[in-house]
Amino acid sequence: MITHHPSDELLAAFTQGELTASLSIAVAAHNELCPVCQEKVEKLNAQHAQMLFDTDNETVDEASNDIQEVELSWMSMIDDITDDDSQSLLVPIDIKSVQLSYDKVQLPRALSNVSLKKWSKLGDVSRARLELEEEPIRSSLLDISPGGVVPLHTHKGFELTLLLDGSFEDDMGTYHAGDFIWLDKSHTHSPRTTDGCLCYAVLDDAMEFKEGFSKLFNPIGSFLY
Ligand SMILES: [Zn+2]
Repeated sequence: MITHHPSDELLAAFTQGELTASLSIAVAAHNELCPVCQEKVEKLNAQHAQMLFDTDNETVDEASNDIQEVELSWMSMIDDITDDDSQSLLVPIDIKSVQLSYDKVQLPRALSNVSLKKWSKLGDVSRARLELEEEPIRSSLLDISPGGVVPLHTHKGFELTLLLDGSFEDDMGTYHAGDFIWLDKSHTHSPRTTDGCLCYAVLDDAMEFKEGFSKLFNPIGSFLY
């Protein structure tokens, strides 16, 4: 069961189109797996549409425009939209599958039409970056092989992990497919997985392995960023 969700602020920013592409993909992919957030987004969209409608009506009243004229322009706009095939919401998306270290896994629709760079591997982790140019924000798919561990680290910026498949645990709990985990420099953790997992990760800076031998792991921190 999903127990970690995007915050209400993040969902609101998502519906207003205010998120970067990488975070927007994360929320959309989470929503494909989460009926709770799907419903929240539908409500927010309806509220937003109502707000726009109310604002439009106020403008009409103020300007004392002929309502019939406005209705006609609405109808012609709707005709234009329905006549235009490029506006169709039913464009089929080919759901992509990826062959991971432990299984073949289907990607969510939100990730299926984004290009991936090629996979590279360091230790237990294989990484494929998304081709989104949003520096300093970087987004990647991470395939962690069965028994894999990411050494204890903190974050210089934020780290968003959307668990897409499998499960992992860290110092704060156990996570399952769909969990949306937002961490920052106030969190220190060491994720580990028994059976392997696939994560979508968005970071805006490298991870930091601070103490003792952990400094040896800083190349992994840069790799995972
Ligand atoms: Zn949710």
